[in-house]
Amino acid sequence: MLRSFAKKLLAALFPPDAVCCSCGREAVVDERGLCPDCAAGIEVFNDAPILKDIDGYTAPYVYNDVSARMVKRLKYGGA
Ligand SMILES: [Zn+2]
Repeated sequence: MLRSFAKKLLAALFPPDAVCCSCGREAVVDERGLCPDCAAGIEVFNDAPILKDIDGYTAPYVYNDVSARMVKRLKYGGA
């Protein structure tokens, strides 16, 4: 009984299937909220410019189709 409750609790807290934050498909997503296809297409921005007078903002990802869809879904609620 305790094992069943623990499984239900974990499934509620960490659902195995969710909606990808880039393409919007239901899929198993990674810790960034990306399905495997989108995760393969995202590029981390390793050489972000350092702006001396501005702090607190930087681009985490290179702007490409995957990151553009993420921004559009965030801003407009869909792709
Ligand atoms: Zn996706």
